[in-house]
Amino acid sequence: MSRYLSPKQSALVPYTPGEQPRGRTYIKLNTNESPFPPSDKAIKAAAEAAGKLNLYSDPTCKTLTEAIAELYGVKPTQVICTNGSDEVLDFAFQAFCDDNTPAVFPDITYGFYPVFAARNHVPYETIPLKDDFTIDIKDYCGIGKTVFIANPNAPTGIALTVDEIEKIVASNPDNVVVIDEAYVDFGAESCVPLTEKYDNLLVTQTFSKSRSMAGARLGFGIGNEKLIADLHTIRYSTNPYNVNSMTMAAGVGVLADEDYTRKNCQTVIDNRAYTDRELQKRGFEMTDSYANFLFAKHPDLDGGKLYERLKEMGILVRHFTAPRISDYNRITVGTQAEMDALITAIDQILKDGLS
Ligand code: PMP
Repeated sequence: MSRYLSPKQSALVPYTPGEQPRGRTYIKLNTNESPFPPSDKAIKAAAEAAGKLNLYSDPTCKTLTEAIAELYGVKPTQVICTNGSDEVLDFAFQAFCDDNTPAVFPDITYGFYPVFAARNHVPYETIPLKDDFTIDIKDYCGIGKTVFIANPNAPTGIALTVDEIEKIVASNPDNVVVIDEAYVDFGAESCVPLTEKYDNLLVTQTFSKSRSMAGARLGFGIGNEKLIADLHTIRYSTNPYNVNSMTMAAGVGVLADEDYTRKNCQTVIDNRAYTDRELQKRGFEMTDSYANFLFAKHPDLDGGKLYERLKEMGILVRHFTAPRISDYNRITVGTQAEMDALITAIDQILKDGLS
């Protein structure tokens, strides 16, 4: 830390992203990326846009915003495009939370929420998940704070139903409820349709997972147009060119290839079911994941040691050290071949044991 860092930022503990190894090639099951390449239409559109990089990107993100609005059956004024969904979440902390309106989210959830809160000097409360890692919606009903819920949750993959979310939204009419649907395309129900009925609901989604564009950094929010206008105010006060031209073009390209996205999601869902079954046969216990990852522990294997051993064997998964979840590893669902390689490695570990 330099002596120039503002005391306001000196206590900041930054978010720790999953490893992105360069050099050794791993089977990468640690950051919930898609194992499939981006759509050809996205690649072609991005390449064409590269020729115009001398110009600033469109600060209104018009074409992409319209394409998202059309797909989700909302008005373009109900959509904001951002540099990954991390950015729209950050904007939501800035726009809808302060000393009088703290944030609230589960104790086990996306690790960036407390960092966004701290960076924006927003007080926050965490509510423990139940012992089975589910959310008790009663905890959030009428809470009078800005609610952030990942649905499906990360790293558990457990999902709430739209009816359950509606209860939370309806019972907090004076507060914004942010539903982070980064993983919704892998089997959970989206609550975008609720945005027509409730002016306090913001839904965020990403192109990083189901649309194979994590490296392009593209996310979006959908909500009541007044909420979205507030987020644009923050955006224009931060970086009006937050989505670059190549990413914007790629986003339009992939949205014109919905069949490709749906097919890939179905493959991930099938591979998740397969891996879940195979791991259960080997004694693993798993949460009921609706995301593109499994959250698994084995009664005889230490979570941290399993992570280390798999890494030595060339397979990267994600291990968290937080007390309630340190027995678990989060395993991204990849291709069938990647899942078979994982299972073969686990068979070897179960035979040899972990020292
Ligand atoms: N929400 C959740 C729950 C996530 O796990 C992630 C990805 N790490 C994000 C949001 C942000 O993803 P991105 O910025 O790539 O859209």
